Amino acid sequence: MEALEKYLPELAERFYSQIPHHPNAFRVFSGGDAQIARLKQTLQAWAKALFCGVYDHAYAEERYQIGYRHVRVGLEQKYVISAMGIVRAFLSECLLLEFPASDVRLRYARAVSKMLDLDLNLMCESYMHASMQNLRALNEHLERANRDLAEASRSKDEFLAQVSHELRTPLNSILGFTKLILDGLTKTRDEERELLRDVFSSAQHLLGLVNDILDIGRIEAGRMAVRVEDVDPREVLDSTLPLITIPAHEKSLELCDETRNTELPLVRADEVRFRQILLNLLSNAVKFTPPAAPGEPAGRVSVRARVLPASDAPAAPDGHGFLRFEVVDTGVGIQEEKREAVFELFVQGSAGPRHGGSGLGLAISRRLVQIMGGAIGIENGDAGSGTTVWFTLPLAPNQAEQVAPFAHEKPAARVRK
Ligand code: ADP
Repeated sequence: MEALEKYLPELAERFYSQIPHHPNAFRVFSGGDAQIARLKQTLQAWAKALFCGVYDHAYAEERYQIGYRHVRVGLEQKYVISAMGIVRAFLSECLLLEFPASDVRLRYARAVSKMLDLDLNLMCESYMHASMQNLRALNEHLERANRDLAEASRSKDEFLAQVSHELRTPLNSILGFTKLILDGLTKTRDEERELLRDVFSSAQHLLGLVNDILDIGRIEAGRMAVRVEDVDPREVLDSTLPLITIPAHEKSLELCDETRNTELPLVRADEVRFRQILLNLLSNAVKFTPPAAPGEPAGRVSVRARVLPASDAPAAPDGHGFLRFEVVDTGVGIQEEKREAVFELFVQGSAGPRHGGSGLGLAISRRLVQIMGGAIGIENGDAGSGTTVWFTLPLAPNQAEQVAPFAHEKPAARVRK
């Protein structure tokens, strides 16, 4: 026992001189020198207990728990085994010095060896238990990933089936109408022109679909290149609104730019994609707002914009606020339960009869807005009817963040009736 007392500090020194070489040492011994000094003391007490202490259930439980802690901090088993090897070698030396008589030494050596084996077993058992838990968690993770993959593959199949269906419809019209003309089945020039107009609009629809599908493909593959720069929303509004004045006029809808008298701050966006989103929302608003019945007020489509300061969570990633746009119409509206679903691919959900379209526009808009750091959603229309689709884009740095209420319509704001 004397020799043990004498050599224990050396044992602790040798043991902990290994520690800094362990790659995860900083995780275990984050307390620095003071912690190592404390642990050296603990090790000495443990070695003494091992040699002559009570080796009971409480001791076994504690060793098991220590093993468990090692696993939790990522200490590999080989380091524990090599550390125990040092202890074993050192205790053998102690036995040699303590018990010169070989028969007594042998008995003690057997006892110590048994205790050390049991100790190591306890540690390894806790490692095994932890590994099994890890394997179980990994297995669950893999099963989940597998289910997601199966779901993704099912969605892809559905997407392909839907795409082919959507493409076939306008293609069949084009083929059918041109065949009628080629076979000379039209009686008058007017009839022929009528059919050609249908061919033209089917081809336009087809082109829109192909562009949308290409966009979705790029977005889903993470290959949608957006060039985000400081963009003047005024320019985007001024170049987009005229594109829907004719369809709005054809349905006698009022088209109002309620931002006309408001100064708009620059936003961070890809100008082409910004215009695409705005045009998509405006086209939908016109598409889903029916012409007024005789004696009723004209339907209306308006655009509004207002600054959301950074203090209105969630702020943009760089801490700036947002510019929020709203496209408001007085049309057929979207049922509350479908307001999220319409942002999914191929979902069409307005309250009115089925209106052409592919069900891709809002899905593309949502993904584009998100890529540019904003958000998009649908709210109740005015007075419970119609639809308000809003989207946000991050403000460019150094843009004033005063909150302007949505401008009320002024006569000057009217673009065309
Ligand atoms: P599409 O218009 O080609 O069908 P979208 O993705 O643009 O595809 O829109 C999905 C669905 O959301 C539309 O089919 C329509 O039912 C609904 N929707 C979109 N905008 C409006 C709106 N302004 N008013 C009413 N319904 C709308």
